[in-house]
Amino acid sequence: MSESSYGLSVITSVEEYQQLVQTRAGQRLVDLTERIPSLVLDIRYATPDNLLGEAVYSEARAFLREPVADALAQVQESLKARGLGLCVYDAYRPYSVTVRMYEQIQDEDFAAPPWRGSRHNRGCSVDVGLVKLSNGERVPLPTDFDEITPAARSRYGDLPAHVMLNRSILLATMHYYGFVNYPGEWWHFDHERWPEFDLLDLPFAAVKV
Ligand SMILES: [Zn+2]
Repeated sequence: MSESSYGLSVITSVEEYQQLVQTRAGQRLVDLTERIPSLVLDIRYATPDNLLGEAVYSEARAFLREPVADALAQVQESLKARGLGLCVYDAYRPYSVTVRMYEQIQDEDFAAPPWRGSRHNRGCSVDVGLVKLSNGERVPLPTDFDEITPAARSRYGDLPAHVMLNRSILLATMHYYGFVNYPGEWWHFDHERWPEFDLLDLPFAAVKV
């Protein structure tokens, strides 16, 4: 465990992470497309199409801690009955990326401050939308991912009925499986078990199995 320049304890060594995985159940970061093959990935931070305007991930991959990935698999299974599935925009995010995002955006409503870190850094948060399972087509939701407008708020009401219904399906299904929505962003969810997991600053290449 090393201390970040903002005073937080962050795991920065692959050896320490591997040791944690071997000694404590559920600590492993799981590749989401391996656990949930029907998932659609749209990892915006691996492209310039994000708030920062440049790619900050070298690969379009998504990881979550094992019990959180299992909970997301249950969400996917439950949505199947409606012909829907999840689209993942972001999941585990290395701590250094959070620091970089905050330094550029400087808005605590849309970027976690480095002195607190993000639950994304713990592999316990996920940004999701909905797709039609049959063809992967997007289901209409209030805004695009990471769009900084009032409509991003989860209780924003000035929307067509079908968009509100889609948002309700997403919020209710995620909630049922232990994900708590951040009211400022309809797409952001923290799994309720997040306090059990440390902040990590390891690149995707270091956590791949
Ligand atoms: Zn998020």
